[in-house]
Amino acid sequence: MDPTMDTMIPVATAQVGPSDRFLAATHEVLNQPTELANYNLYATDRALREAVAREGAGADEAGLLEFGERIGTAEYLELGQLANRYAPEFEPHDRFGRRTDLVRFHPAYHALMRTAIAEGLHASPWSEPGAGAHVARAARYYLHAQVEAGHGCPITMTFAAIPSLRLQPDLAALWEPKITSRAYDPSNRPAHEKQGVTVGMAMTEKQGGSDVRANTTRAYPVSSTGPGQPYQLVGHKFFVSAPMCDLFLVLAQAPGGLTCFLLPRWRPDGSKNPMQLQRLKRKMGNVSNASAETELRGALAWMVGEEGRGVRTIIEMVAMTRFDCMIGSSAGMRMAATQALHHCGQRSAFGRLLIDQPLMKNVLADLALESEAALVLTMRIARALDHRAEEHEDLLARLCTAVGKYWICKRTPQHAAEAMECIGGSGVMEDSPMPRLFRETPVNAIWEGSGNIQCLDALRAIRKTPAVVQAYFDEVARARGGHASLDRHVGQLKAEVRDSPDIEYRARGLVDRMATILQAALLVQHAPTWVADAFCRSRLDGDGHHQFGALPANLEFDRILERAKPEVR
Ligand SMILES: Cc1cc2nc3c(=O)[nH]c(=O)nc-3n(C[C@H](O)[C@H](O)[C@H](O)COP(=O)(O)OP(=O)(O)OC[C@H]3O[C@@H](n4cnc5c(N)ncnc54)[C@H](O)[C@@H]3O)c2cc1C
Repeated sequence: MDPTMDTMIPVATAQVGPSDRFLAATHEVLNQPTELANYNLYATDRALREAVAREGAGADEAGLLEFGERIGTAEYLELGQLANRYAPEFEPHDRFGRRTDLVRFHPAYHALMRTAIAEGLHASPWSEPGAGAHVARAARYYLHAQVEAGHGCPITMTFAAIPSLRLQPDLAALWEPKITSRAYDPSNRPAHEKQGVTVGMAMTEKQGGSDVRANTTRAYPVSSTGPGQPYQLVGHKFFVSAPMCDLFLVLAQAPGGLTCFLLPRWRPDGSKNPMQLQRLKRKMGNVSNASAETELRGALAWMVGEEGRGVRTIIEMVAMTRFDCMIGSSAGMRMAATQALHHCGQRSAFGRLLIDQPLMKNVLADLALESEAALVLTMRIARALDHRAEEHEDLLARLCTAVGKYWICKRTPQHAAEAMECIGGSGVMEDSPMPRLFRETPVNAIWEGSGNIQCLDALRAIRKTPAVVQAYFDEVARARGGHASLDRHVGQLKAEVRDSPDIEYRARGLVDRMATILQAALLVQHAPTWVADAFCRSRLDGDGHHQFGALPANLEFDRILERAKPEVR
């Protein structure tokens, strides 16, 4: 066919101008919002700024403003899309057949990792402890996780490994300088050749993830036995995320029971340590982050902490990863609410902007409330981590990390789905950030101790350290007199917390109530009264099966929305 044929087809419409004679203008794109980009993620987040000042990191305000600006550009936000569109690829061998166990990532993933490490998200409270260190890091992590969540996995594990590693001071002295370094080096070479390293964790096996006592991987001493000594590990691990990390904390059965070990990906002699990757998991979300199935074929590893006390040792790491799940899921909610608010602020239906339609105001305000409640609780626990030397703060962190991890991560999937619905059909499309936000949401709820495990952990804390209950009620008592519903519900909760033979059956209900009452107490103290009132009336006085968008009709919707809206230049 003549390639110029189409130019001979006459276009008979009056609108066709001289320059586009042969191409009919079908329509103008109307009533479609702009991309949410080129905005300062920090400056536009009032609740976050207030939390940073209140919880002790006000000195970092200027740094956070600069960071929020830098990561809010269209180019930077696109890194999140790219890192997930081009998933990591596994190359078990090189072209000559030599085993490499290499995972290749898109450059966008490396760019995100480089920023996170340069900003100290992987270590700053340990390398630069001091007033507000956890709060400042939590704020930065919260901002960066809004751009992309998957890279947060190795960042979190690296951050969280330090408290466990410090239980073995000789190993900590050897590795901590490289772990806390601000240099990101993704090259596939021995850690001793690198300036900066990252740390992963390998606990879960096929026969048990929550119950790691079922681990069958065995540890054989190389020569001497005991803490700090080298062993060889034989077995498998079913989930090893970020397998290109340089070091891993691993659980294995030593002669004296389940024990924690530090396993480098390369041996000190420069040869590959045989933690061999079998394949990468095919995950529904968390795509930018690789997660591998592995076999340990005599891999060299050093004992961390006491033999037979592996869970006790690695729980220090797990506690920190659980806290980061709170930050990550709070960040997911903030980005979902922001996307919905932005879209509805520009899209009209039935003659009015969606954000001005009463029922949509209700939905959006409810999403904003949930997001602020998640943040206020997360930042309160960040402050507790900064003040663990104080008994009240330590007890609060112990109980409320489990409570908060359970509740915030559990709320996120419904929240993301509702935000997606606010955007309508375009929200379901893969070129929107919403599918990625939505698919990310179940992950935080499942790993690092799934929902039931968090509830059982809260019960364990209550039984083993009853003082955590007093600390919890002391904390919520700070809001006493601030809202009548809150006072009433705190009174009822005191009766529910008492141990009884059926307490495991009702653990979820109990932890739900502990979380929402604590969030309410924090909002009553720190948020505008109209935010706190809306939260208390919907979350405490509601029927317990709250559907987003079913807030009481007489709330200050406009003020709630105004507070949450991102202002785009
Ligand atoms: C994307 C991804 C990455 C991961 N990366 C890593 C990693 O890097 N390193 C690592 O070690 N692991 C990793 N994991 C594994 C993860 O930690 C486990 O999947 C998780 O701990 C649950 O273990 P499991 O899958 O064996 O499920 P199970 O332990 O079989 O649990 C299944 C369900 O039973 C519930 N349950 C368990 N015990 C009880 C009980 N007593 N009462 C009531 N309910 C109970 C759990 O809450 C859960 O809902 C990853 C998982 C995912 C999804």
